Amino acid sequence: LIEVDRCLICEGPLRNERLGTVAPFLAQRIWQRKPFSVRLAECSDCGFIFFNPRLEAFEEVRLYSGYRGVEYQRMRHSFEPWYTEAFNASLSSKEAWLHRKQSLTSLFRDQLNFGFRTFGDILDFGGDNGDLIADLVPATRRFVYEISGVETVAGVEPLRSLEKCREHSFDLIVSSNVLEHVGSPHEVARQIASLSGSETLVFNEVPYEFATGVQSTLKRIAQMALLAGTRPAVAGSMLGPGMFNVMHEHVNYYSPRSFNRLMERSGFKVVASGIYTLKGGLLGERFVWNLAKRA
Ligand SMILES: [Zn+2]
Repeated sequence: LIEVDRCLICEGPLRNERLGTVAPFLAQRIWQRKPFSVRLAECSDCGFIFFNPRLEAFEEVRLYSGYRGVEYQRMRHSFEPWYTEAFNASLSSKEAWLHRKQSLTSLFRDQLNFGFRTFGDILDFGGDNGDLIADLVPATRRFVYEISGVETVAGVEPLRSLEKCREHSFDLIVSSNVLEHVGSPHEVARQIASLSGSETLVFNEVPYEFATGVQSTLKRIAQMALLAGTRPAVAGSMLGPGMFNVMHEHVNYYSPRSFNRLMERSGFKVVASGIYTLKGGLLGERFVWNLAKRA
């Protein structure tokens, strides 16, 4: 873990530090220990909100190796009764992908003029099995950069290292739901920049969510109530002033402003950005996105 004292995105001063706690599942999976206190920091300049201290690369590997696999699901379920096999499977179900693809297809139609062009090589950066870009835009070849070793879907070739990625020049790079997970967003944005040429379009999106607020507090209260009934020891391990600011997979909460700032400070020029609501999503999930080119 690395403690920071300035904004991770823009180096602005921090304000409103709130107490939080590491989710019991995370504490066990990464450090084999009980939950401990962390802080939720907010940048007074760009509005970026993040958990502090930060995960280091080797800690991310411990968390995400075998991600959503059998052992992962079993261990997580032992701390989180709602994380059943069926729920785990639903996260990568056909329906879930359908909604995301529909939303992105109409966004891309508006933003990328793809009625008038076909892309050459395109890359999904951190795109798991490549399902998202399998038929997203007209393209000659489709690749996914993914180090987990997961098998890719038909028509998408896996690239297992940045070196392998550098053997290609991409017309489009997509990072979808990656940058909210990472300890060092600039490091990841710089990796994407290193794979981009002057004409490469880079599309990024993350969930638009609030670390604190009524909705997230209600969700935590419901989870604590369920835990108290089914996993009393786990519930007990979380009790304390930070119990409603739980650090789990998402360690970064971007505003449109801080998300654009991230790209601008990593060598990009943002050419378009916005917020969209997931089509067909029952909970009205929203996403922040931007489209960028090398500056
Ligand atoms: Zn900032």
